[in-house]
Amino acid sequence: MSDDPSCAGPRVRMVPPGDDRERLVCPECRYVAYQNPLIVVGSVATWEDRILLCRRAIDPRTGFWTLPAGYMEERESTMEGAAREAWEEARARIAVDALLAVYDIPRISQVQLIFRARLLSPEIAPGPESLEVGLFRWDEIPWRELAFPTVLWALREHEARLGQTSFPPAVNPTPDALARWERML
Ligand SMILES: [Zn+2]
Repeated sequence: MSDDPSCAGPRVRMVPPGDDRERLVCPECRYVAYQNPLIVVGSVATWEDRILLCRRAIDPRTGFWTLPAGYMEERESTMEGAAREAWEEARARIAVDALLAVYDIPRISQVQLIFRARLLSPEIAPGPESLEVGLFRWDEIPWRELAFPTVLWALREHEARLGQTSFPPAVNPTPDALARWERML
């Protein structure tokens, strides 16, 4: 963690001076390994009236369908991250349009930013993290085989904004909205 030859890395749990919670600290060089929420970037990407979904080849939720999304990398923008994930998971070239939703998932210390995007071509193919990929019309979406709640949320919010060019991003749904969407499954 430093040029200090005695440094064996952050390994002691303590509250650093001026902080208010325990962190993993290196007792030699005082390096603090902060653990903060991770940002997931993804997209609802469409070709005409069809939506790109990927069937997961990896845990968690192997075999279930998801939107192209994943952890943001360092030194990229959120939109670049969303485009990269579409390429990695579905070999899809996309033009990111607008921010569709911001989801807080404090249980797993995650923030998800889901964009609306357009496919530049309908040519897609599974990347290493996908078993298969597909373009689904609304009534063809495998609603009961979606990998995560936020996939359902983002799809519903996308549908509610069809034809709109300017809108505020959605946030976590209300209990009423959730109950309504679950009845529609
Ligand atoms: Zn150290």
